[in-house]
Amino acid sequence: MKICRFDKDRLGLVQGREVLDVTEALEVLPPARYPLPRYDPLVANLAAVRARIEALAPRARRLPLESVKLLSPVANPGKIVAAPVNYTKHLEEARADPAIHHQNQIAEIQRVGLFLKATSALAGPGEGVALRKLDRRNDHEVELAVVIGARADRVPRQRAMACIAGYAIGLDMTIRGPEERSLRKSVDSYAVLGPWLVTADELRDPSKLEISLAVGSEPRQRANTRDLILGIPALIEFASAFYTLEPGDVLLTGTPEGVGPVRPGDVMLAAIEGIGEMRVEVRAA
Ligand code: MN
Repeated sequence: MKICRFDKDRLGLVQGREVLDVTEALEVLPPARYPLPRYDPLVANLAAVRARIEALAPRARRLPLESVKLLSPVANPGKIVAAPVNYTKHLEEARADPAIHHQNQIAEIQRVGLFLKATSALAGPGEGVALRKLDRRNDHEVELAVVIGARADRVPRQRAMACIAGYAIGLDMTIRGPEERSLRKSVDSYAVLGPWLVTADELRDPSKLEISLAVGSEPRQRANTRDLILGIPALIEFASAFYTLEPGDVLLTGTPEGVGPVRPGDVMLAAIEGIGEMRVEVRAA
């Protein structure tokens, strides 16, 4: 199932080039009560939401996909976890380019581990990316995004795949420079998630997916998730050894080679096999 959020917090079921408005399915969620949970309520209740979506779909209003503004399919992730350098060719590229590595040591993921992006950086493809620090290089990084579906505390890799709700395309937008990664990658709108959540039952093997990004008509990144240094099960094991992963947490698995700058006015086209593609406009903040 492909589940999207669109326009003014509508919930959609994506079928081909159409979006079925199934917003009523949100009524199965428990009422919000302070303090709010640290997980995303929609993802935490995904089974019930899906059942309601299926019941609503035959009578749902149908909209052309092109006519809706796509938001992040996960509204309230508790964490956005990201892998710094997780493809060998990108590791070589980063080490060779001082614009990318600056003073920071570029090291293997097994040594440096993971970092966090602020949840306030989250944006949907229809919202676009608003660049800051235009005197610096602002780079695109396309990544396979994993959405956690079940609480995961110290989960060994052998059991990790059972903790996944689904997948999306992630853009880990980055200002290059000397500051900590988490600062340079947490600018508002610098974590794009979309175009929808593909549930794990629909995308059974994420370990060999074609992944690409173009800026306008210029191809920039093209790779396959089979070349991940740490695959998804190992990333979940690594992250959950330090902190509990909650439903709705987003795990950005790292970008392949070909990262490069974007400028206001550019349009990014990102695609991942089995998920789909998304168009993201770039503007100045
Ligand atoms: Mn990245």
